[in-house]
Amino acid sequence: MPIDARYDQHNVFARILRGEIPSDRVYEDLDFVAFRDIQPAAPVHIVLVPRGEPPTSSATLREADAEWVGRMVLVAARIAAEQGLAERGYRLVMNCGDDAGQTVGHLHLHLLGGGPLGPVA
Ligand code: 5GP
Repeated sequence: MPIDARYDQHNVFARILRGEIPSDRVYEDLDFVAFRDIQPAAPVHIVLVPRGEPPTSSATLREADAEWVGRMVLVAARIAAEQGLAERGYRLVMNCGDDAGQTVGHLHLHLLGGGPLGPVA
């Protein structure tokens, strides 16, 4: 995973990964951790984050990241199934930058579901 020079080791997800901030974890493996969002935007709102120091957003992803980014989507689908969302459906969201409202500079995927989500925008 390439180092993103703008990565802040004190960002909230880095602190959650280090256990400095408590979180309601629903999944973890060697590469990813998923926990419930503190301000849920849907009945089920889970954030999936890569361990380590990933790019701050999709804007700084490189070709070499393709494999683990693909696995992140597969892990999100697996968590969705475990949460009982697969049948009715769910939404995966990756915010990038200010216009998308990204607040945490540690690339992550939102998993939203548990009821009708409305139009995407
Ligand atoms: P972004 O807006 O960057 O795409 O998503 C960041 C998300 O992190 C937001 O949905 C926000 O509610 C969530 N968040 C921020 N601080 C915390 C925290 O301390 N704990 C948890 N579980 N979620 C957080």
